[in-house]
Amino acid sequence: MKTSPRVDAHTHLRIFGATPRSLLEYMDRERIDMCWLMSWEEHAPTHPIYMWFDEHGIHNAFTSWPDRFVPMYAPDPTGDDAARKLEMWVKKGMAGCSELKITLDWGSLKLDPLLEVCDRYRLPLTMHMEGSFPWYRGSTKTEVRLSKLYNALRPEGLPRKILDQIEIVFAPLRRTRQRLERVFAGYLVNFAELERRLTQYPNIRFIGHGPLWWQCFADEPLRERDLLRSKIDGYGVPNRLLDTYDNMYADISAPSAFHKLGRDKNMARLLLEKYKHKILFGTDNFPLPFREFVESLRIGDEAFKLIMGQNAVNILESRAR
Ligand SMILES: [Zn+2]
Repeated sequence: MKTSPRVDAHTHLRIFGATPRSLLEYMDRERIDMCWLMSWEEHAPTHPIYMWFDEHGIHNAFTSWPDRFVPMYAPDPTGDDAARKLEMWVKKGMAGCSELKITLDWGSLKLDPLLEVCDRYRLPLTMHMEGSFPWYRGSTKTEVRLSKLYNALRPEGLPRKILDQIEIVFAPLRRTRQRLERVFAGYLVNFAELERRLTQYPNIRFIGHGPLWWQCFADEPLRERDLLRSKIDGYGVPNRLLDTYDNMYADISAPSAFHKLGRDKNMARLLLEKYKHKILFGTDNFPLPFREFVESLRIGDEAFKLIMGQNAVNILESRAR
């Protein structure tokens, strides 16, 4: 009897110290047949934890273990030669334009040449959507400590609210915090423009991922942004896009998906059944019990097989050769 393929459709090298060998060990342990191995490339990064995941390392892993790694590369679209680079790497075996994680709006014209290539080769494109936020960076010992503290506190949490009160009566703290503040601009924000792209490029398999995608998923759009507290009984923009467009997918990797779905198992089961042809299993390397979570939902056999690997295989098979 032929067993169904298992695919982790979202992994990287370097994150949590991952190497090709450590990923192979992970795959063997978890009985995963293949990993989609993705880049992260920004020429002018503003995210506090930016790490460059380069295309050469990804391609080397693929050439050494071609039956275990599916290589993907999303060049920074602000580079003039992004489209040419992508096409060159596609001819060498890169199978997707992922992970696209860049401080552009979906409406940016800079995306067009890259999306043209993706559409022509019918590539999957995993997108990281994330809203803008302030963060802090200092150089002196005190500044570094203060930055760490502010970075660690959630804006709506009580400790941060207490600090805000202190700032009102103690102006030096406010001035220092403002001096240390940097702004992360947000990744691929603007669902309206994403929707336009879905119709403009029907051959691209757009795969939703990232905090902004999951904040809005099954929720009143953009109203309640707290991942740990918001309910998932609504109908968000991502849900409508999944319902409306054949080329809209999502992966369930990273804490953003794990915590959102994990808050309400009954709802998660219904949603995974409903979108069984659209959802891809993935981890983004995070050491969270993703597989156990999907198993615990007791979804039907067909949905389980599709989500755990067959959807990823189908997407790759529909590429242009
Ligand atoms: Zn990722």
